[in-house]
Amino acid sequence: MTAIASRVDLEPVIGLEIHAQLRTATKIFCGCPARFGEAANHDVCPVCLGMPGALPVLNGQAVDLAVAAALAFGCAVHETSVFARKNYFYPDLPKGYQISQYERPIATGGHVTIQVDGGTRAIRLTRIHMEEDAGKSVHEGFADSDRRTYLDYNRAGVPLIEIVSEPELRTPNEAAHYFESVRRLLVWIGANDGNMEEGSLRCDANVSVRPRGVTTLGTKVEVKNLNSFRYLQKALEYEIARQTDCVIHGERIVQETRLFDSALGRTFSMRSKEEAHDYRYFPEPDLPPVVVSEARRARVAASMPELPDDRSARFVRDYRLPAYDAGVLTESRGLADYFERVAAACGNPKAASNWVMGEVLRVLKAREATIAEVGVTAEALGALIRLVDGGTISTTVAKGVFEQMYGTGQDAAAIVEAQGLAQVSDDGALHTIVQQVVAAQPDAVAQYRAGKKATFGFLVGEAMRASGGKADPKRLTQLLRATLDV
Ligand code: ADP
Ligand code: ZN
Ligand code: MG
Repeated sequence: MTAIASRVDLEPVIGLEIHAQLRTATKIFCGCPARFGEAANHDVCPVCLGMPGALPVLNGQAVDLAVAAALAFGCAVHETSVFARKNYFYPDLPKGYQISQYERPIATGGHVTIQVDGGTRAIRLTRIHMEEDAGKSVHEGFADSDRRTYLDYNRAGVPLIEIVSEPELRTPNEAAHYFESVRRLLVWIGANDGNMEEGSLRCDANVSVRPRGVTTLGTKVEVKNLNSFRYLQKALEYEIARQTDCVIHGERIVQETRLFDSALGRTFSMRSKEEAHDYRYFPEPDLPPVVVSEARRARVAASMPELPDDRSARFVRDYRLPAYDAGVLTESRGLADYFERVAAACGNPKAASNWVMGEVLRVLKAREATIAEVGVTAEALGALIRLVDGGTISTTVAKGVFEQMYGTGQDAAAIVEAQGLAQVSDDGALHTIVQQVVAAQPDAVAQYRAGKKATFGFLVGEAMRASGGKADPKRLTQLLRATLDV
């Protein structure tokens, strides 16, 4: 694909529309719980089922979360925004229209910073608007699923924000990074639970190609409903290759909506522009305009946590961490909090960073656990790091101790004590070990003394092994060298 693309030198152009469920207790226009996993059609009422005469009432918590998201992305939050009816017929939409914001969204502008190829890019946002989710068609799992589709309206009326980017993304990889950045920030501020399998976050990807250097946009194709970073990337890769192929063969690209089949790894047409809906938007007569007063905006702003980019910059500045470390440690708020507590407990930020990025993340990954479920408290890890820094145990031994702490909940000092793991730095004991190795390895010693200096490493390894890994490596090396060099 890349080879062909570069031959005609086409540039992909990508813009994403991300739908994020807001983490409210109840739905956007009624009091039904907004939760996942209930029995089908359990969380419904006349309002979210679109019964005639039922009136919507806007959920204030949803507005606050939308404002928080807008502020986090640096958008302009508008004092007045307006809900509209987006009319279309589909069985999962009981009212026959979706209540969404159209001409006057709650926020415009803003940007998302992404890390690509060692640098950063700011991708501008067009807008963020609020809307309600639709229900879910269930096509599988019933005895008569070959003939019937079932409907679950639990999701109908769940609050969403749609985050629309400018068409500024250029590669599938950038698009995936952008989606990840959006997820990280929304979860960080508590606006979204980040649960992509449950549909809390999904995106529509718009993509076109154009000859490099051209500034007008090509005809776009929209790939709907991608709920993983990998699917987004795969769908875009496929679509760019398909469009490139069209251009090479002199075919016209058809403006259409496509779906991605993750099993086949390809997109296929759902409807073309000719079949596109005319939504006949008009202002929602049952809801007054949304007013976000200056005081409300300020209250939401004041309740925001320190944002990941600010926190990352602070880690570099105050803890003198490499930017790479700061980026990893601010992957989630929980991880950043944990790191800061470890750093405070051991007084050595770089060591704390190494441990959190290394052992802690490794163990969490192996156990498929999150930082909230971590089995070693920050204070206990801090104490372990202090044992290393104080020379009581080596880093190698400490890694084993950490594993045991994780499994047993015991503290580091107790494990070191009970198992006699303290480092041997006593000259007498180390000297005995050196003598043993020199006696046991006459050939290596002779080679070393004959000038084959590389043999030294082997002898150090043998001495370390003889000590059961507990010898203070620095002192052991000194003593061994002194013995050999006489
Ligand atoms: P629509 O009216 O079809 O919803 P919009 O202009 O509102 O289209 O754009 C929707 C999304 O598609 C935005 O994220 C935008 O950046 C992106 N987009 C618009 N035109 C193109 C294009 N030609 N190629 C790629 N993406 C595009
Ligand atoms: Zn309801
Ligand atoms: Mg649009």
